[in-house]
Amino acid sequence: MKPGNTRSTLRLVSRAARIINQNRILYMKLYDNGVVKAVVRGDSGALYIVVLDTRTLNARCSCPHFKYNGTCKHTYALRLRYLSHLRRNIQLSKKDANSKPLRVLRTKKT
Ligand SMILES: [Zn+2]
Repeated sequence: MKPGNTRSTLRLVSRAARIINQNRILYMKLYDNGVVKAVVRGDSGALYIVVLDTRTLNARCSCPHFKYNGTCKHTYALRLRYLSHLRRNIQLSKKDANSKPLRVLRTKKT
């Protein structure tokens, strides 16, 4: 990830929150190697593949913005979604959240 300024990062985070609130993370799955793959719907309706390494929180996305800027709101959306999932698991079970696989999540089609 290229270093960005704080202001643009905050903008990406607020856009990422909107993606989550609008249920635009259509699918996500945690693999044994600690990688989460997700499908996120962009503003245009296009679907992007986002891959997140849960050990480093590095992520990449198939959207054009990521290609040119090395970051995008979709990668932030997946980070936020993953971190909130971890927090829930910790509260519920107090077990190591990494020992629990993520469920495959599907949201209602609108
Ligand atoms: Zn993206």
